[in-house]
Amino acid sequence: MPEVSIVNTAELSGFDAISTNNHELVMYCNDNATGLKAIIAVHNTTLGPALGGLRMWKYASDKEALFDVLRLSRGMTYKSAVAGLNLGGGKAVIIGDSRTQKNEALLRRFGKFVNNLAGKYITAEDVGIGVKDIEYVQNETPYVAGLADKSGDPSPFTALGTYLSIKAGMKKVTGSDSLTGKKIMVQGTGHVGFYLVQHLVKEGAIVYAYDIHEDTLKKAVEAGAIAVTASEVYTRSVEVYAPCALGATLNPDTIPQLTCALVAGAANNQLLDEVRDGKSLQERGILYAPDFVVNAGGIINVFNEVNGNYNVNKATRMTENIYNTVLEIFRTCEEQSILPQQAAMALGDKRIREVGNIRLYN
Ligand code: NAD
Repeated sequence: MPEVSIVNTAELSGFDAISTNNHELVMYCNDNATGLKAIIAVHNTTLGPALGGLRMWKYASDKEALFDVLRLSRGMTYKSAVAGLNLGGGKAVIIGDSRTQKNEALLRRFGKFVNNLAGKYITAEDVGIGVKDIEYVQNETPYVAGLADKSGDPSPFTALGTYLSIKAGMKKVTGSDSLTGKKIMVQGTGHVGFYLVQHLVKEGAIVYAYDIHEDTLKKAVEAGAIAVTASEVYTRSVEVYAPCALGATLNPDTIPQLTCALVAGAANNQLLDEVRDGKSLQERGILYAPDFVVNAGGIINVFNEVNGNYNVNKATRMTENIYNTVLEIFRTCEEQSILPQQAAMALGDKRIREVGNIRLYN
């Protein structure tokens, strides 16, 4: 059995929460003048500086924000490790409504905190944060990525990798990776979801979509998706469910409602509990493509920027390889009788261990 540590930290706080999954650093950032309340988490820097996006969200509590940033930063460690990048895992969250509370001063104040970490953490776009926002952050720190005049918005790359993962998953399920005529549910049609809808419609899939924001959903419908209601997201009969909104949508409430054969989407941390919910999916005969493998296109693109000499063709080729990685993970699952999440994490753990050992030889 591969070495995989999977622990749910939802009920933990303080050092218990940080040490359970061996996070290196958690920084609380507060500024009363701008109203900034942010948390930066660095999970592991064995392979390189911790790179991960900045999320702005209306968390119900500090604990919920901590839980999210701990899970997201750990996911980034595995995402970069499996994608073969020389990056560690980190993430940041700002507590607040990005539609009403985001402004230049708040983002620049956040940038000063990032700068204090002197490159241990590099920030980029995530939910609620776009290219323009990262430009504000850049006024205060060079430790940013995903800039407009460099690699730009990572979401088209994330969408490409997600699209190819759906194809790889369908190849495993049906023997063919064609999506023509396949019914696919896209939950969340923001940056990534919108581009994903475009890929799927282009291939002739029947795409259903839902977003909590009407204007965002409307754009997806204009691109060829069929709008559904919130309650239909899990219950409508489809072949593929592609979560592209927030995490934890695979849980004991939703899994029994699903009728799909495959889950493959861009959202981070889709499984509320990596073991319990991964097993439930398997018991229902639903194949799960691990989120941090599926959605690595964005970090691959950003990595090519921070690595210098950004080249769009190289970033695209590397993103296209996600198709092969997903199939490799499904093969490992079969050979070792383990769940996809475990197989993917074992792949990441192996690289971190092996490369970490090389560094010890200095
Ligand atoms: P985004 O903010 O542009 O889009 C997210 C969308 O989800 C928004 O339109 C929002 O209204 C919608 N949404 C939120 N809750 C919802 C719900 N319950 N039901 C339906 N819609 C809901 O963010 P994004 O950049 O498109 O990222 C989407 C997901 O993919 C996130 O989980 C993000 O962490 C992950 N991801 C994004 C990238 C990237 O390159 N942007 C890379 C890796 C992973």
